Formats: sequence, C-alpha cells, structure tokens
Amino acid sequence: MHSQQVTAEPPSNDRVERDSTVGDVPGVLRSPASGADHAPLVFDVIIAGCGPTGAMLAAELRLHDVRVLVLEKETEPKSFVRIVGLHIRSLELMAMRGLLDRILPHGRRRPAGGFFAAIPKPAPKGLDSAHAYLLGIPQPVIEHLLEEHAIELGAQVRRGCSVAGFEQDDEGVTVELSDGEQLRSRYLVGCDGARSTVRKLLGVGFPGEPSRTDTLMGEMKAGVPQEEIAATVTEVSKTHQRFWLRPFGERVYSVVVPAAGVSDRAEPPTLNDFKQRLRAIAGTDFGVHSPRWLSRFGDATRLAERYRVGRVLLAGDAAHIHPPIGGQGLNLGVQDAFNLGWKLAAQIRGWAPETLLDTYQAERHPVAEDVLDNTRAQMELTSTEPGPQAVRRLLTELMDFDEVNRHLIEKITAIGIRYDFGEGPDLLGRRLRDIDVKQGHLYGLLHRGRGLLLDRTERLTVGGWSDRVDYLADPTAVLDVPCVLLRPDGHVAWIGDDQRDLDDHLSRWFGKPAT
Ligand SMILES: Cc1cc2nc3c(=O)[nH]c(=O)nc-3n(C[C@H](O)[C@H](O)[C@H](O)COP(=O)(O)OP(=O)(O)OC[C@H]3O[C@@H](n4cnc5c(N)ncnc54)[C@H](O)[C@@H]3O)c2cc1C
Repeated sequence: MHSQQVTAEPPSNDRVERDSTVGDVPGVLRSPASGADHAPLVFDVIIAGCGPTGAMLAAELRLHDVRVLVLEKETEPKSFVRIVGLHIRSLELMAMRGLLDRILPHGRRRPAGGFFAAIPKPAPKGLDSAHAYLLGIPQPVIEHLLEEHAIELGAQVRRGCSVAGFEQDDEGVTVELSDGEQLRSRYLVGCDGARSTVRKLLGVGFPGEPSRTDTLMGEMKAGVPQEEIAATVTEVSKTHQRFWLRPFGERVYSVVVPAAGVSDRAEPPTLNDFKQRLRAIAGTDFGVHSPRWLSRFGDATRLAERYRVGRVLLAGDAAHIHPPIGGQGLNLGVQDAFNLGWKLAAQIRGWAPETLLDTYQAERHPVAEDVLDNTRAQMELTSTEPGPQAVRRLLTELMDFDEVNRHLIEKITAIGIRYDFGEGPDLLGRRLRDIDVKQGHLYGLLHRGRGLLLDRTERLTVGGWSDRVDYLADPTAVLDVPCVLLRPDGHVAWIGDDQRDLDDHLSRWFGKPAT
C-alpha cells in the first residue's frame, strides 16, 4: 500500500452539507458528534472502480487539482478483448481533452450509421459533428489509455483493493477495504460496475427488468474456410440479429450466438455450449476450437433510483445497465463522468453554486432513462417473432426518411442530448460542435476543463470568473449567435450579448466571482 500525504487544505465548500433527501435512507448520514475516530482525510474523492467511467472521472477531477484515489478490485487490467464502439459524442469528449490523437491509432474508424437495432442504413449526410464516425476499439485499450491519462494528471490508482463498506458523516466518507483498511475522503463515487457494492450498501433501489435472454460471446478459431463461414452467416443473420462470426486475426473469430436460456452470469460458458448453439441456429458449429476467452451477457435493464445520497455518488454501469445493443454502455458511463467531474471539483474547490452537484442527477438520469428505453426497443426489434419482425421491416422503411434516421443516430451517438437549462434558443443546453475558431479548433481550447466564453462581439468580459472561465474574442467564429458561454463539458449554458445577463449566468454555473 502506498499513500500520498497532501497537507495543503484546498478551499472547501464543505460546510455541513445536509442533503435534504438523505433522511429517508436509514443510517447513511451520521453526525461527527457520534465521536468516531476517523482515518486522516488525505483524499478529496475516492473512486471505487477503475473501469472507463472511474478512470475518466479521476482525470476530470485532476484537471482541477482534486486529490483523487481510485481503488480497483482487480490486480491486473482486464485481458479479454471485447471490441467496443466509441460513438460521436465520446470522440468529441476525447477531442475536448486532447486525447483523440492518442486513441485513434488504436482503433478502426467505421461509418456512424447502421447501429440502431443493427438496421443497415447509412448515416444521414451532414451530421452535426467534426467527428462523425464510430471508432471500434478493444475495451482494454480504451481503459488503459484513460487510466494512463488519469495517472499522468496525478491520480493515484491502487489495484487489488476492493471497497467493502463505507460510512458517511457531515464532513466526509470513511471507506473500508476488504482487508479492513480504512481510508477517508470528502466524497466517494461508485464506478464499480453493474454489481456495484457502493450502490448496494447505499441502499439505492435498482428497479427494472431481469435478463430474459442470454447471449454467448467469445473468441475462437474456426475449422472451415472463411468464404463458407461468411455465406452461412449472411443467410442466418437475415433472421437472427444476435448472431455473428467476425474474422478477428489469423483464423480467429469473434463469435456471438443466442444462448439456450438464462444462466448464472458468474459461470462462464464452455466451448461445447457454443458448438451446441451454433449447430442449433446455423446448422453447423464451423469446427470452432481453441477459444481465447468465452463469456455471456444478458439483457437485464435497470436504472438506479438516485445518483447521489449525501457524499456518495454513482456513475456508469453502477447506475444503469442495459443490453449492449447499439453499443452505448461505455459511452454513457464516460459521459456521466464528464458531466460529474467539473461539478464535484467545483464543490471541493469551494466555488460550486448551491445546487450545481445536484444537476448531475437532474441531467444524467433522464439521459440514461432514454438509453434504457432505446435498448428495450432495439431488443424487441431483434426478436424472431412475426410481430417484432414486421415492426422491424416497417422501421427499416421509415429510416429512409432522413429525419427518422437522423433522430435515431443522434440518440445512439448522444449528440442529440439537450439538457433542460430553461427557456431559450434551441442551442441552449446542447453541446456545441467542434467549430473553427481563429486559434484552430474550439475543442483545442477546452483541454483544461474550464468554462469558455466565446465572444463574437468582442465587448463582453468574464470579469471575476476568469479563474474558472476562459475568454475568446473571435468575430470570425462559425456561429450564428453573438456569444456562447460553454460549461467545461462543452454544453451551451448561455447565449446572448448582454453583459448583465451573462453575469447572472456565470453566477448560476460558476458561483460567486472572485473578489
Ligand atoms: C458484449 C458487450 C459488448 C459491449 N459493447 C459496447 C460498445 O460497443 N459500446 C459501449 O459503449 N459499451 C459496450 N458495452 C458496455 C460496456 O462494456 C460497459 O458499459 C462499461 O464497461 C461500463 O464501464 P464502467 O466503468 O461503468 O464499469 P466496468 O467496466 O464494469 O468497471 C467497473 C470496475 O470496478 C471494479 N470493481 C467492482 N467492484 C469493485 C469494488 N468493490 N471495489 C473496487 N473496484 C471494484 C471492477 O473490477 C471494474 O474494473 C458492452 C458490454 C458487453 C457485455
């Protein structure tokens, strides 16, 4: 075990913070008057889990000098190579933090279309993004790159440490590891995946539906020629959407096939299970052999009732699970982290407006609700029953209408999200694309995770907020409004040209100005 002694006290917003909603969760909030002897408060935030969500959150917090420790149960990074798709909004986030160039060489660019229920329609022309493609990349690679980025920024990651318990009080959270060690921080964030210990201990409900179908997934060699496999797969895929054998290196295939029933997820399937199911569905087992790894996934769909109880928050799969159709889970988790990072940092640095941290749940819970719904819909569309097949044919026709296709793609890629910031032009609450500005690209100005005022009038100022918000005067910026105020996550917090109105909005999102 190693720990970093940091003696400088950061400015703190940690006045006694009584979350009015805490009271209905028994035993969660204790008063320090109970006389507990706490471990020293060395960290501002402890993150449980170093998956993509935890690593992204750690990096975002470090941009604001927050003392962060990530505890990861596994001693080694994951080894099995599942290819995941990074969708447009996640690629934009990577560009906003200067990570895209580092990530791109490890993945394969694919067209952005064809992901809704795997209906093979190309993306509509002119998607509103400078990064309008999908990047297929092995999940362990993206996890490694995000963890490396977090460590470079100064996050501590301790592997082989499992969070087993915690207790929160008015000033912080005492986190207990499975070996009994106790650590203390101001906040704890559960990024510990679908079976989140943090969520369970918090007593937060996780309503939804259990798995109804299981799918086997693995990598193995095949014993028949590729052309033969391709011909059979093309035929079978006409009726089975959860079925493929995709070449993946020297005679190695990524194999996906529906399981016979729902089983215990902790029990990995055997090669024999794959052979039986391939024979049942394709009439041949393709002579599969020499598996690299075998796994299964279900279609359980659940959403945490709350994302925050006092000083403990949830993000990523710990807060929501759904079938992988459309490839949205990792993207959703990384985007949760991007939304939460600057808000939690603001709380710790002492400038967060009263309700800023609660906007995390207010903004992200509805987004997850929508993703859960679209995956439910997509799963229905993969059914081989005549009714869902008919709906699938109808939707396939409807997707020839540009508006329909665009709506579905903007949903899956998360570029259609509009947070509710109140009345205003359509751009308010949406993310701004990576437009050209006089210094190059807009996203190049967001690497430090600060707010940005982009001023085409050249007469506004960020005044006393200049320690949190950057300023760019650029009459040539490709925008059809006079000025925009961007939050650190790139969402448009204000549009206008009036200084007093701007000051009100700076206060709303960035707290009191420095004196
Ligand atoms: C077959 C399949 C295909 C998929 N394809 C895609 C795709 O194309 N695109 C996409 O966006 N998503 C995809 N997903 C979903 C994606 O893999 C998950 O949504 C993503 O891994 C969630 O990231 P996370 O960091 O929230 O959780 P996880 O990746 O589950 O990470 C949680 C981490 O917490 C650790 N942990 C657990 N308990 C503790 C504890 N008590 N203490 C400390 N550490 C703990 C775990 O070891 C783990 O490292 C797919 C999923 C499946 C099953």
